[in-house]
Amino acid sequence: MSARTRGSSIPVVAGSEETGVVAGGGNEAGEKPPSKSAFDNLDEEPPGITGRRRLFAGVPDKCWNDWKWQFRNRITSAEQLVKFLPLSDEEQAQLRLVTELYPLSITPYYLSLIDPQDPEDPVRKQAIPSILEISMGCLGMEDPLEEKRHSVVKGLVHRYPDRALMVLTDICPMFCRHCTRKREWQNGGWVRTAEEISAMLRYIRQHEEIRDVIISGGDPLTLSTARLEEIIREVRAIEHVEIIRIGTRFPVVLPQRIDSALCAMLSKYGPVWLNTHFNHVNEITPEAAAACDRLLRSGVPVNNQSVLLRGVNDSVQAQTRLVQGLLRAKVRPYYLFQCDEVQGTEHLRTPVEVGVGIIEGMRGYTSGLAIPTFVIDLPQGGGKVPLLPDYVISRTEEELVLRNYQGKVFHFRNPRHHMLVEAPVGAAPISGFNFEPQETGNEDRISIRS
Ligand code: SF4
Repeated sequence: MSARTRGSSIPVVAGSEETGVVAGGGNEAGEKPPSKSAFDNLDEEPPGITGRRRLFAGVPDKCWNDWKWQFRNRITSAEQLVKFLPLSDEEQAQLRLVTELYPLSITPYYLSLIDPQDPEDPVRKQAIPSILEISMGCLGMEDPLEEKRHSVVKGLVHRYPDRALMVLTDICPMFCRHCTRKREWQNGGWVRTAEEISAMLRYIRQHEEIRDVIISGGDPLTLSTARLEEIIREVRAIEHVEIIRIGTRFPVVLPQRIDSALCAMLSKYGPVWLNTHFNHVNEITPEAAAACDRLLRSGVPVNNQSVLLRGVNDSVQAQTRLVQGLLRAKVRPYYLFQCDEVQGTEHLRTPVEVGVGIIEGMRGYTSGLAIPTFVIDLPQGGGKVPLLPDYVISRTEEELVLRNYQGKVFHFRNPRHHMLVEAPVGAAPISGFNFEPQETGNEDRISIRS
């Protein structure tokens, strides 16, 4: 099938709604591009451009840049997928089998990033179901983080004292094969009802210790901007809530969603932070970088939480290219997660040592700003634990022997016992220091110990 014929197999939806979205969208004429492109250092043509030309040549810009068109035209079955990717009969049969348990959903935009000739393509591995999801399905847990147990009211997780997580929907534009919440996919796209959201808000109002509300899903940006604003406005009106965080993969899988209407709305309710989920440098396309740029210009800081995935980003080189691309897009690499112990994801999981080795391989060789914190999110809701390479060779009260990123050994005097200083009696306390009366032989002096 020719590229043009393939492209025309996607229904092109025209109409005033689409026109309205594009007119209000971030790609309208006159918008300034990001000051420094994420692609400035790459020689090759971005994969999305060739992919779109190859697969969706018949789709006009008006539709392609319309997130609602992209969303409506997601690829959700083996029959649709085979029109775009060469799949053997066996692969198609396997795909049907897997999707009975774990459905498939890919936006045309994200599909265009896949190199169809490369079975090991890092975008493909995140989006296209593998038979290993069910053949290794006996390993892992359905809900390893025990989010259901920590739900204080339906959809609201209150695990840490000062933070609460609002799960608004299970709908996502793209079903990531490594998703921690893939158990929810089988329940078929739900959105919390107005009553359920009211109950969540009531709980947050009643708990003054909650200063940080995370709005997540599924993907909360699948809600309309107007509905999202109703919820965010209510959260912002709660006096003790200091920050709002949004967890979304839209900048990666459907960046057209980050339009000017959404950005203008978010800018009214700051501080709003946005955490997204780039896993590979091939995802940092000009469109994705522009979406992040729009958020940043609206006063919404963007952080990235990637997941360490076998065959996708499990090497120092892949991670270095990812984090350097993120910094070029002005996105801070925040967390690198060990892939959770979720049923249906075992084939994508790596030994913990791989993550520690990657952090060690990057530290010193690229900016510290680029290095995310590698964490395990503990089962049973135990919380996140950071894992670091061990640079301490030995430690005494007086000295640490440390190795640097090149393996060179250094001695570092530990000042702990030399922090004893003397201050006159009655001196103002210094924050963080304990004043302990000591036997100094001098009645009008006390010692300060850190
Ligand atoms: S965007 Fe997040 S919640 Fe949605 S499928 Fe991907 S990992 Fe899961």
